[in-house]
Order: sequence, then C-alpha cells, then structure tokens
Amino acid sequence: MNKNYYLLFEEQIHSIKNYKKVPTLLLHSCCAPCSSQVITCLTNYFNITILYYNPNIYPEKEYLKRKNEQIKLIKEINKVNKLEIMDCDYDNDIYEKEIKGLENEKEGGSRCYKCFTLRLEKTAKIAKKNNYDFFSTTLTISPYKNSKLINTIGEKLEKKYNVNWLYSDHKKKDGYKKSIELSKKYNLYRQNYCGCIYSKRTY
Ligand code: SF4
Repeated sequence: MNKNYYLLFEEQIHSIKNYKKVPTLLLHSCCAPCSSQVITCLTNYFNITILYYNPNIYPEKEYLKRKNEQIKLIKEINKVNKLEIMDCDYDNDIYEKEIKGLENEKEGGSRCYKCFTLRLEKTAKIAKKNNYDFFSTTLTISPYKNSKLINTIGEKLEKKYNVNWLYSDHKKKDGYKKSIELSKKYNLYRQNYCGCIYSKRTY
C-alpha cells in the first residue's frame, strides 16, 4: 500500500504537541529557495539547525553562491523558534566516489538515489551524535524529486541510527509554489540545474 507521506508528517506534528520542550530538528537543506517554504512551515514546531551538506554541487563557485544565499535567508526569514546553520566543508570528491559508474544515469535514477543517501546519511549521523530529536530534508519540496524514494531512505536511516525521521512531502498544499513566492520576497538566487556536473550538462 502506498504511504501518504504528507499525512504521516501531519501525524508527527500533532504528536510533538505533547513534548515538554520545543523539539530539535536537524534539517538538511539543498538550497535557500527550497528551504524558504520548508523553514516557514517547520519553524512553528521546531528549533531548527540547517545542515548545509551538498558535496554534489559543481563547481565550487556555484556551491559557495548557493551557500551564501542560504546564510542570507536564515538571517532574514521570519522565524518563530530558533534557527541556525551548521556548515560543512566543500568536498566534491566524496560525491564523485559515491556515484562512480552512474555518471550517465538519467536525472531521477540510481545516481540521484546515491546522492540523496549520501546527504541524508550524513544528516542522520550528525543528528544522532548531537542528540537531535528529529532529522529531515527540504528535498521533497521539488516536483522533480521523488518523495517516496526520499522518505524510504529516511526510514532506513532512522532504523540504522536510531534517530527519528521527520516525514515530508513539502510539495503538497502548493508548497513548491509558495517557495517560488518566498524566493521572490527574499530576492533569492534560483539555480537552473539540480547541482552535479551531470545535471549541469543537460542545460
Ligand atoms: S541530478 Fe541532483 S539529485 Fe541527482 S545526482 Fe545530480 S545533484 Fe544529485
């Protein structure tokens, strides 16, 4: 049976109302535009740390441009609870090693599966090590990204690292459209390719 990830997300949000303190969330973010709507929604329920871990992005200049947009957004966006960023060093070699042999796969295929797993596994590990209540990602806001695949990876990592995966299907309820409106409001740079050199070649 197909799971309704948006419904699972709503159930989790409902259940955290029983927490005695605001729960902490380590949120992997792919970029500022996608995170704008996700943060706007989740800041109502969590103290959020944005994990900017994206070794897939090529070249480094583009990585830094996207990261700076993320930092700018965190400063400017309306927030209810705490919001901070955890930065990671740029290391495209890690990504290249991970996807070796899959360079010519189509976008959305097995190369992307590896790419999602790489970024989410790092998030789960850090969340566990630092006692976060939940870990999650902004990736499901994109209509080009498979929410089922992303949530399935999250579920596996939840079991592996014993840390709660926050389900998501942020593209639901006009989430993607709202992220475009927020990107305009905060004057954010919106890239025209997913991130890796292989996605760049198709544009
Ligand atoms: S197309 Fe995007 S998700 Fe897929 S491997 Fe490249 S950067 Fe990662």
